[in-house]
Amino acid sequence: MTTGYEAMIEVYCRQLKLPGLRQAFAATAREARNTGQDYTAFLASCLAQEVESRRQSALQNRLHQARFPWVKTFDTFDFSAIPSLPKPRILALADGGFVKAKENVVLVGQTGTGKTHVAIALGICAIQAGYRVRFTTAVSLSQELLQAQAEARLPRALKVWDRYDLVILDELGYLGLGPGGPLLFQFCAHRYERRAVAITTNLEFSRWVEVFGDPNLTTALLDRVTHRAKILVFNGESYRFKESQRHLLQEGQGATANSTG
Ligand code: ADP
Ligand code: MG
Repeated sequence: MTTGYEAMIEVYCRQLKLPGLRQAFAATAREARNTGQDYTAFLASCLAQEVESRRQSALQNRLHQARFPWVKTFDTFDFSAIPSLPKPRILALADGGFVKAKENVVLVGQTGTGKTHVAIALGICAIQAGYRVRFTTAVSLSQELLQAQAEARLPRALKVWDRYDLVILDELGYLGLGPGGPLLFQFCAHRYERRAVAITTNLEFSRWVEVFGDPNLTTALLDRVTHRAKILVFNGESYRFKESQRHLLQEGQGATANSTG
């Protein structure tokens, strides 16, 4: 049964926009009664509930704004599958220190070796550390900037990205960027030493010119992107390929076991 006071608290919490408190006050009050908590301690736990609920919803908001294509974390990453990537070195990045220092991370290696997985996991860690993150692909960002340029609003479009402490640029190198190349360069130059960027690419640096076309521009870009950057090399076979081979092998063994058993 709802008392008059409870109804009032509901109304006040709505007016004051205190969803955490609104949700938790009844249980918190019951707990205070049962444990003989004093008024100050009770008020403190009410406020703590509201603070925690705001922290959670800010986290959910930032996760949503990041537009990750999938949720991938380090919990599901098998470090033993990629020995070129020392686990301590990766986990050292997970505290978001590189975002604070406005440094870049370049994840380079063959397709399927876990670059996007690690980039997303780093992004989620950065969000948990309180940063704003946005995931996009090199092609999609360069198209967006091309469109902005055509509509004479490139400076504004570049500035919109400033609100993100970390931008993850996925899949640089799968497709040439054509006229978008110089704009992606401008994007990286604009963020250089002001905000962090993480880039995943299947191309070693000597081949970036294939994406950007112009050798001078590519040199200038590499200079900025790799200065004080953490370079993570993903050496190995495709994880997916290895996994499917392993399943096939197990099925094969199962079949053999069945036929002999
Ligand atoms: P890349 O971006 O290098 O092409 P992805 O990160 O997209 O590779 O990885 C391909 C798939 O394999 C994804 O589903 C990813 O979660 C999984 N994967 C890759 N490497 C690992 C790993 N070491 N441990 C667990 N899953 C992995
Ligand atoms: Mg990828």
